Amino acid sequence: MSTSTLLSDSKLTELMHRAGIRPSVQRIAVLSFIANMKSHPTADDIYCELAPKYPSLSRTTVYNSLHALAESGLVRELEIESGIKHYDFALHSPHSHFICHNCGRIYDMDIPAGLENAAMPGFSVDSIDVYIKGTCLVCKTN
Ligand code: ZN
Ligand code: MN
Repeated sequence: MSTSTLLSDSKLTELMHRAGIRPSVQRIAVLSFIANMKSHPTADDIYCELAPKYPSLSRTTVYNSLHALAESGLVRELEIESGIKHYDFALHSPHSHFICHNCGRIYDMDIPAGLENAAMPGFSVDSIDVYIKGTCLVCKTN
């Protein structure tokens, strides 16, 4: 799936149907924000962004939506620092992440070549999470 096209609400609804979860208005809004903003938001980021547009939205609804979306496989939880979960759209093509310890931004990166073959012989790989930490170019040049 291309990472450059915006996913429409009807496309996201279809993906939720296929993943077996009910496409409520709130879930669509949460998934759309994660999939289209590509900013790896936390639950709090999502709540603060959506609350003005959805006055009935509560933090609990956001947490419950994230839980359902993660269970269904549409959303990927990134726990780069323990206790802080960031959310990513799970159907973007496989990639790893660079986190800047200065600005906190999380950048998408390609997965280092050959990593899928790095497991011991006979082991099978289900998922690969690579986090590289450092200072991003924006922070270095400012
Ligand atoms: Zn930075
Ligand atoms: Mn990502």
